[in-house]
Amino acid sequence: MQALIDKLIKEQKLSRSEWITLIKNRDTVCLYARQKASEISRQNFGNKIYIRGLIELTNYCKNDCYYCGIRAGNKNCSRYRLTKEQVLECCRVGYPLGFRTFVLQGGEDAFYTDDYMCSIVSAIKKQYSDCAITLSLGERSHSSYKRLYDAGANRYLLRHETATNEHYSKLHPSSLSLENRKQCLYNLKEIGYQVGTGFMVGSPYQTEENLADDMVFISELGPQMIGIGPFLSHSDTPFKDMPNGSLELSLFMLSLCRLMFPKVLLPSTTALATLDKNGRNMGILSGANVIMPNLSPAATRKNYLLYNDKACTDEEAAEGLEKLKQSLHSIGYEISYERGDYKE
Ligand code: SAH
Repeated sequence: MQALIDKLIKEQKLSRSEWITLIKNRDTVCLYARQKASEISRQNFGNKIYIRGLIELTNYCKNDCYYCGIRAGNKNCSRYRLTKEQVLECCRVGYPLGFRTFVLQGGEDAFYTDDYMCSIVSAIKKQYSDCAITLSLGERSHSSYKRLYDAGANRYLLRHETATNEHYSKLHPSSLSLENRKQCLYNLKEIGYQVGTGFMVGSPYQTEENLADDMVFISELGPQMIGIGPFLSHSDTPFKDMPNGSLELSLFMLSLCRLMFPKVLLPSTTALATLDKNGRNMGILSGANVIMPNLSPAATRKNYLLYNDKACTDEEAAEGLEKLKQSLHSIGYEISYERGDYKE
């Protein structure tokens, strides 16, 4: 198996059947992969970790994804929307802490029309012209993505979730399709965004073949960012009795992404931190180079629950950042206060 890792490092891609072999035999090679991924990460980014301030814009969503805690059908979710002023207040808190990227993430909520979203984006740009704006608002039209880009958005995160049609339909209602999701990603790329995609590890019914398809798709898309985290069950969803994804496999997939794309922006996700108390640091040591601390207002944070027991929902932004610094320090890493765009 080491030979396949070496081949991946050298050629930066593998065939579908090689991916399957590698993922199926991960036990023999996961430490080697982790060590190599961490080395490559160090070569490209030193001991620096980029931070992104996550602002959870709305937990209203028109979709009913079977895994997600803010799905439309969840009657136990108490819903909120941030106003433009509340978003700007998050930035006002985040900027002096050193954040130079703001990520606006939310459910698919028609309340945020193109006009309103553009006014939020341009207001942030006006006040914080040295900051990058990342959006993660799900599927929108080409013209909507274009308007938001022209208003000043720089990056967009849209995980493909799973690159196998059959598996996609086990995770989503029939109103959603993998084809449309992929089209959105290609539209975003064509418009000029730095694009992030990704998937959950250990989502219900996922096979190693599905993960191989994910790697093949990511390799074709060539994203600038990749978001990967374990599936975590939420008690108010159809997947409430499904087991959580595994830490080992999540870390292994992170390492493979680093090996395939040495310069990709790769977060160690909140889901990983939720799954294991050392998850965030282990993600870093497996090749991740980005962390996305929460900048949402304290009052709404506990309602943006995509899964149960979400980490860091009770911390102030400043407090969370201080803890993050110490924790990174304990493994020899430091926060970078740069904007942290993708560099060729
Ligand atoms: N509505 C936006 C943002 C989604 S939330 C969109 O469609 O892109 C961000 C990510 O959280 C999702 O892409 C999904 O991969 C992840 N997520 C949702 N529910 C989850 C769960 N139960 N466990 C782990 N990750 C989850």
